[in-house]
Parts: sequence; C-alpha cells; structure tokens
Amino acid sequence: MEGIERENGCFHTFCPIASVAWLHRKIKDSFFLIVGTHTCAHFIQTALDVMVYAHSRFGFAVLEESDLVAASPTEELAKVVEDVKAEWQPKVIFLLSTCSCDILKLDLENSSKDLSSRFGFPVVPVHTSGLDRTFTQGEDAVLHALLPFVPREAPKAPKAEVVEEKKRSWFSFGKDEGSKASAPASPQRNLVLVGAVTDSTTQQLQWELKQLGLDKVDVFPSGDIKNMPVINENTVIAPLQPYLSDTLATLRRERGAKVLTTLLPIGPDGTARFLEAICAEFGLDASRVAEREAQTWSGLESQLALLRGKRIMFLGDNLLEIPLARFLAACGAEVVEAGTPYVHAKDLSEEIARLREKAVPVIESPNFAAQVERIDRLRPDLIVAGLGICNPLEAAGYTTAWSIEFTFAQIHGFVNAIDLIKLFIKPLLKRQALLDQGWAEAGWIS
Ligand code: SF4
Repeated sequence: MEGIERENGCFHTFCPIASVAWLHRKIKDSFFLIVGTHTCAHFIQTALDVMVYAHSRFGFAVLEESDLVAASPTEELAKVVEDVKAEWQPKVIFLLSTCSCDILKLDLENSSKDLSSRFGFPVVPVHTSGLDRTFTQGEDAVLHALLPFVPREAPKAPKAEVVEEKKRSWFSFGKDEGSKASAPASPQRNLVLVGAVTDSTTQQLQWELKQLGLDKVDVFPSGDIKNMPVINENTVIAPLQPYLSDTLATLRRERGAKVLTTLLPIGPDGTARFLEAICAEFGLDASRVAEREAQTWSGLESQLALLRGKRIMFLGDNLLEIPLARFLAACGAEVVEAGTPYVHAKDLSEEIARLREKAVPVIESPNFAAQVERIDRLRPDLIVAGLGICNPLEAAGYTTAWSIEFTFAQIHGFVNAIDLIKLFIKPLLKRQALLDQGWAEAGWIS
C-alpha cells in the first residue's frame, strides 16, 4: 500500500497468550485454559505475576512427555476441566493453543467439541500460538472464537408482550395507531462497539453517543457469553482496536455487517472523527463533537507544550503504533518512524492516510538491525518499544516508553486523552529530572 514500507524483519513481542491478562476480566464467568509447555507457563508467570498470585480466572494444562505419544489430549484435558468446573463454575472455558500445540499438531478443535458435550457448557478452542502473531492479536483470536455465540436475531418477545401487542392493535382498530402497528416493521439498525476495552471506557463512549442522540449502543464482547449483542446485515460495527482484522473480516463476510472505516477513538482527534462517522451513519447531528474535541485539546495544553517538536520513534510491538503515531503527529510531535509488526491496510486506511498527510514513515515488519542504525542516525527524543528492548536502549542513552503500557492503560475517548498523553510525557519528564539533578555530569546517563 502507498505510504507503507515493508522490511520483513522479525518482531520482538509478547505472545498472544498474554491477552488473557485483560480478557479474563472482561468476559465474566469465563476461564482461560492455556495448553502449553513449562516455557509458556513461565512466560505467563513472569509477565503477569501479580495476576497469577491473585488467583485469576486462567490456568495451565502443562504438556508432559507422555502427551507427545497420546492419541488425543482429550482425556488429560477432561481432568483439568473437571477441576476448573469444580472450583470456578465457568459459563465458558477458552482452550488456548500454544506453539507446542501447533508443532505437535494437537487437535484441540475436536477435544473442545468432546469436552463441551461432556461437561454441558462451551469449551471453545482459540488459536493463540506465538509463532506468527503478536500479543494483542490474542484478543482478535478470542473474539473470533466468540462469534458463534453472537446471535443474528434478537430473542422473540415473551408471549405476554405479544398478547398485549395484539390487544392494543385490536382495540385501536381503524385508528391511526392501529394502522401503524400493522405496518411491516423496518429493520432496526444497531451500533456495536467491537473491542475488549474496560467497562468504564465503553460507558464513556456510550455517554458521548447518548449526548449525540444514540441511546442504544451495544458492545462486543459483552461481559456475559449468554448476552452477546445481535449482529447481522443491519449492524454497524465501530472497531475500538486496530488489531481485530480476523473478527472484522468475518463480521463483514458472514454477517453482512457494515464495518466503519474511520479513525479509532484514541486521542481527541481520533475520538472526534470516530463519533462523527457514527453520526453520519445514523443521520445524527455531529456539531457538538467539534466543541468536545476543542475542549479536550485545550485541557491538554500544558502536556502538548512538552511534546511539540519532540522526535518520537515506534519500533513496533503491540499494533497500536499506527493510531498512536497519528495522535502524536496531531499533538505536534515529529514521528520519525512508525514501525509496526503488521498493517491491516483495509481497516486502517483512514489512519494511514493521516500519517501520509504528515509524511510519517510507516514501516511494516521492521528489520531490527536496520532500526538500530536508524536510531543512531535519527537520535529520537523518545522511543516506544517492547519491554525487552527498552532497557538496552536506556543503557545506550535513549529515553524509552514501554509499549505494553499503552495496551493496559485506558486510552480511548475524550476523557482518557489526558492519561494517554501522560504515557508519552512521563519518560520525557523523568529524563529531564535526571539531567537537572546532574546525572549526565556524573556519567550515570548519557
Ligand atoms: S506460546 Fe510459544 S511464544 Fe508463547 S510462551 Fe509459549 S512457547 Fe513462547
């Protein structure tokens, strides 16, 4: 695609099983069972240690040597599912596959079907191997696996309501109300926000949309597997995250839903264009949005002063790089490179167009060795990168921000714009404080 360069490098990022960190909180009464080796278990323990000790709703079925020769993993998994059921009474278990499952060709699809019928609740297979995906794509895999639980039609009205409706139409026979009631109902369009953000973030977006005249806004995933929103050809999908391409493609193809292609609601500019696109789709007056955007920008003025002119580089990690780079460019920063593991060009076409307007270089699948040379040449003021790369960069004298923080923080909508901008400001202020205290002269930072 025009404006995107591809380098075919390897990416350095967490693997998709890390997505259980936020998904197990979002989908209530669920349990995430990861089928993998001790390596995967160590990774989760190290990466999500606090949550592991908090006895969270995820666990491991560790593959042992005996499993390598077993015809099917079902019997061993059944014992684990039995324990999980006794302790948690989940409404759904997500069975997450790992690299080892891929390499050993374990058939978790069939095991899941078998376990579902044995235990009487859904056991859903999810492909989350770290061989070819970044960690945020774990969310895409889980949402995609949830689609069979998303109804195409709203449940029929209870009988009592149908009787009442009949009575109303009988007694108003010949009157205006009666003729309206007997007219064929036009299909109602519904809006569904897609993405596993926190409840408070969805409530803020729902509040903004209510002020604009849209009272009913559904969310996928909802917290309850038995209460997922209706999605069909009358549905407008508003994506909240840039890494949901499989889920969005299936909703387009199999449900006929309309997926909005606009900016993501990240930063005041993205949130404003997002709300305006929804208003245009539903025929609502969007004039209030510009005022909300201006208010939000003016509330960020002191932070913007610190960001303007700063040279910022994304090495590529969590797939949020494209909307974050667009937000930074709108803040007046100079994004010297927006590296990202993948670019989903169709879903992000508006975001990429904005970056092209600002002449921001977008590098898909960047080559790390080439990036290191560019870092030395471009000398950015701030580098946003994965955890493992930040420490060596700091040791080499660069200021860094952990990209994973943007995954876990609340960064969507007008209200959260202040938290978003602070994630960029904090490392810059920290460095300035160290310089002010004479750390450079002492040789402790360069
Ligand atoms: S799934 Fe693969 S990448 Fe992820 S922790 Fe396990 S071995 Fe590592």
